Amino acid sequence: TEACIAAIEGADALNAYCAKTPEIALEQAKAADARLKAGDAPAMCGIPLGIKDLFATKGVGTQAASNILAGFKPEYESTVTQNLWDAGAVMLGKLSMDEFAMGSSNETACYGPVVNPWKVDDRKLTPGGSSGGSASAVAADLCLAATGTDTGGSIRQPAAFTGIVGIKPTYGRVSRWGVVAFASSLDQAGPMTKSVRDAAIMLGAMASVDPKDSTSADIPVPDFEAALTGDIRGKKIGIPREYRLDGMPAEIEKLWNDGIAMLRDAGAEIVDISLPHTKYALPAYYVIAPAEASSNLARYDGVRYGHRAKLGKGDGITEMYEKTRAEGFGPEVQRRVMIGTYVLSAGFYDAYYNRARRVRALIKRDFDLAFADGIDAILTPATPSSAFGLGEMASADPVEMYLNDVFTVTVNLAGLPGISVPVGLDAKGLPMGLQLIGRPWAEGDLLNHAYVLE
Ligand code: GLN
Repeated sequence: TEACIAAIEGADALNAYCAKTPEIALEQAKAADARLKAGDAPAMCGIPLGIKDLFATKGVGTQAASNILAGFKPEYESTVTQNLWDAGAVMLGKLSMDEFAMGSSNETACYGPVVNPWKVDDRKLTPGGSSGGSASAVAADLCLAATGTDTGGSIRQPAAFTGIVGIKPTYGRVSRWGVVAFASSLDQAGPMTKSVRDAAIMLGAMASVDPKDSTSADIPVPDFEAALTGDIRGKKIGIPREYRLDGMPAEIEKLWNDGIAMLRDAGAEIVDISLPHTKYALPAYYVIAPAEASSNLARYDGVRYGHRAKLGKGDGITEMYEKTRAEGFGPEVQRRVMIGTYVLSAGFYDAYYNRARRVRALIKRDFDLAFADGIDAILTPATPSSAFGLGEMASADPVEMYLNDVFTVTVNLAGLPGISVPVGLDAKGLPMGLQLIGRPWAEGDLLNHAYVLE
């Protein structure tokens, strides 16, 4: 814990931590020492973590990297972080992210962009997003692991951009209670770690059946670490042909082929599969996620939390709402609220929102059929490129940024577990990741496949 606190002090240039809590960390570390001495060694005992700014932490600022939550200190602790503290973990501080987890480059954070510790020459690169602070902090040894959340790829894409491991569990495996909501039917929290084994241990500590989250599934949490045998003989790995995009960089294609070879060498059978509705996933996601976000973000009204605009003479409650929301939300969040409100409006609900929901069902069915055919896991690239430069995409058409999620959003739409594993470096020396997608509730098996790729 002390080494991490010192490392954090020397790494302000990365801008990964938006709040540092060394006093809490040292106190928790002492308590962990005492537990160890007493012969009680829970899974995460004494492990110093960074926590994404999306998790409510009692008495510690929780802003979802948004000005609208300026000064908000929750009166309660999220279930996931409480589970981690109960398992002996230590909180070093809160980690930056894209505002309300909307973005793929950590450039929409009210705290300014986070920098990737990997660089090419002197060019500053994005750590990805939205869990960019978490990824940067783990990759730069500013914590031993971090929490992330993933609505459309926000754990897996930043993990790939920084050379670390990130897993999004099956929807319902981890409680969403006390996690600031973006798109409730897609959001899941998960660990971002230096190794697959760490991910298995930390996921076990984060997961629980939680009556406070009605979508938390009543399914026992197995010992994920025990599943890491490295034996995948006879397993069937699906390679979906729809993920072979036109214009995919040769390096990503090669990485994918290398991953296929590694799994085959370990005794798995490689099967060409089709997931025919893949090409509709991105448009469906960018209807459903903003629709849910526009509803979830209605609660930031200047009354209940954080920021309230200064009002002029004659301003009433409508002006208060309008001014507060115009000042408090950044441009990407405002864009999502507008898209979401539009697709849910009376005249367009059927054409957009309902159609997107039907497409979502078809995407899920594609996966169900593949698994019914005996496929154990599906291997794809995690991202269409390695980390890009800060500022490079932020000013462009927002849809360019959305294309980053092309390989990851299908997994959230289908509620499946997905993991990103670092597998190689590109010609510039930057990390690249592969994604494995698993059967629902089979995170142990999924982690074991990732263990072979690591
Ligand atoms: N990049 C995607 C988005 O902007 C996914 C974000 C996420 O998973 N939280 O919506």
